[in-house]
Amino acid sequence: MTSLGDLPLRDDLRGREPYGAPQLDVPYALNTNENPYPPSERLVKALGEAVMDVAGTLNRYPDRDAVALREGLAAFLNADTPGAGLTTSQVWAANGSNEIIQQILQAFGGAGRTALGFEPSYSMHPIITGVSGTRWVNAFRDDDFGIDPARAIAAVEEHRPDIVFLTSPNNPTGTALPLAAIEAVLDVAPGMVVVDEAYAEFRRKETPSALTLLDGHPRLIVTRTMSKAFAMAGTRLGYLAADPAVVEALLLVRLPYHLSAVTQAVARTALAHGEELLGGVDALRRDRDDLVAWLRGEGLRVADSDANFVLFGTFPDRRTVWEALLERGVLIREVGPPEWLRVSVGTPGEMAAFRTALKEALKESL
Ligand SMILES: *Cc1c(COP(=O)(O)O)cnc(C)c1O
Repeated sequence: MTSLGDLPLRDDLRGREPYGAPQLDVPYALNTNENPYPPSERLVKALGEAVMDVAGTLNRYPDRDAVALREGLAAFLNADTPGAGLTTSQVWAANGSNEIIQQILQAFGGAGRTALGFEPSYSMHPIITGVSGTRWVNAFRDDDFGIDPARAIAAVEEHRPDIVFLTSPNNPTGTALPLAAIEAVLDVAPGMVVVDEAYAEFRRKETPSALTLLDGHPRLIVTRTMSKAFAMAGTRLGYLAADPAVVEALLLVRLPYHLSAVTQAVARTALAHGEELLGGVDALRRDRDDLVAWLRGEGLRVADSDANFVLFGTFPDRRTVWEALLERGVLIREVGPPEWLRVSVGTPGEMAAFRTALKEALKESL
């Protein structure tokens, strides 16, 4: 038997753990911020037909540049953010926004370069950064999980990062950033600024998207995904909007034909049914606000959320609470600052199960 330690693995990968949110078969999976509403029967049929249509051409490579899909994504963003005025050449797509982030690091990071983020935030930013051989610097969020612009400017000026990551709404805290904080970073950043907007569709009406800042900021990249609000996590489709020159840079590092014909066809069909897929977002927003109010009513601390999940605490031993929930079939996420837990907003039935289980868990852990 060979063990990992026997292999000539890169030194900087030794001792690392693979990404591992538990994938358990439980009645109530509220741990990965998916949209709980599956596609309707009508959409399932349309998706099946789209796959049938490409099935007969699978002997051929797909469109390497995914032009038709990017046209659809640009149209979606222009509808989402009036005034964005995006063209197809400003939009790029890959297998999940994780692959988008990986391509950004391959093009703009690498050995001798630095990426900076403000944690607690999305754990894949430092992981993908590290795997690309880029140095990671954590500049920390404030106690309320926001980012003070003056402190952000100081951190960027001190470390001169090649890439800055800003996540808004932030995972796992739910915190949305005001545009002023993003503009402050853009003003001083010497390299690329990535605003990860994986949860943008859940943001409050008064929270603007960083897409509105693209004009005049050629080093700004806004990333999005179909995995969350769009209810298509299984499709693996992430995308970005940026200056056309940024897309040109990513063409240098992407693998040829990285997006399969099946992925492109399914994503285009999903976009064509966007209204239906996003139809649950308003209800999820409402249920999120109800959940925040309920948790506060139970005497817990809760971070304000612009996303489809809620970070709550604080528990001196969060593991006990997490396990007590799991015993009752409710899987949430042990993530973020040490005394907090994160729960995704599910269906009303799933939320009822969560509330019952949490009440029991809290009583038990007293
Ligand atoms: C879930 C998530 C993503 C993305 O995922 P993909 O499924 O790879 O598109 C990206 N950023 C943040 C902050 C997320 O929470």
